[in-house]
Amino acid sequence: MNTEILKYPLGAIDTHLHSRISCDSEMGLQAACRQALKLGLKALVFTEHADFDPSDQGCGFYDDRKYDEELAEARVAMGRSLKIYKGVEVTYQPQRRRQILDFIHQYQFDFTIGSVHMVGSKDISRPELAKKHYGSAEEEQAYGEYFQEVEKLIDSRLFDCLGHLDLCKRYGHLHYGPLVYKKYEKSYKKILKHLIQAGMMLEINTSGLRQQVKETFPPYPAVLEYLKMGGTNLTMGSDAHRVQDIGQDFAKILQDLPQLKKLKRK
Ligand SMILES: [Zn+2]
Ligand SMILES: [Zn+2]
Repeated sequence: MNTEILKYPLGAIDTHLHSRISCDSEMGLQAACRQALKLGLKALVFTEHADFDPSDQGCGFYDDRKYDEELAEARVAMGRSLKIYKGVEVTYQPQRRRQILDFIHQYQFDFTIGSVHMVGSKDISRPELAKKHYGSAEEEQAYGEYFQEVEKLIDSRLFDCLGHLDLCKRYGHLHYGPLVYKKYEKSYKKILKHLIQAGMMLEINTSGLRQQVKETFPPYPAVLEYLKMGGTNLTMGSDAHRVQDIGQDFAKILQDLPQLKKLKRK
């Protein structure tokens, strides 16, 4: 990881967004940068998708040369007014650990996010596929399996940051109702403890606030638990795929959780 990224206070940098280098976004890099400037952000970390499952629409889409070209152009256009970092969001699958390791080593990333979008062969990040999966499984089983995959991701030691810790609820809540934190407290605590031990960053992903689930990934009680455990390695990511979503709700989170303003990263 480029440790420069750690020097920005929370709210001054968005460490999760997707430009047209990702298969599911059409946002231009420079348009994103202009919006960041408008919002008063100091830096952006683009985290383009890298997917390796052949069933995934993003598989094979990552184009490093094009990415580097676009980053270089954006850096020239922004000059010193905005720092731009090259990141990636990898869909982690334990069975593809070697392939992912080679991929990460092949390119020069400032920041790597590991995300669970698939549980085994089941894609829980796309509404139709998630609907099918959750429709045929009990909540405890489905969420339990998801959290186990997150544990494996941390154990892989491949990434700087964990993406959207409890993405399972994004479409899961449509079947099971709200994810009750207390019910899964043990799983959250175990994951947070492992994150700290592994020296990995916890992301507060704000995309949930603009989706039906209406809470961050992970929710506030988990963030507070992380702080209680002594965790300091936090970041905020909007997961924006559109200009208007960049940096979204960062101010709200700092207002709701004022203790984050005093956070000193170690
Ligand atoms: Zn993701
Ligand atoms: Zn993302």
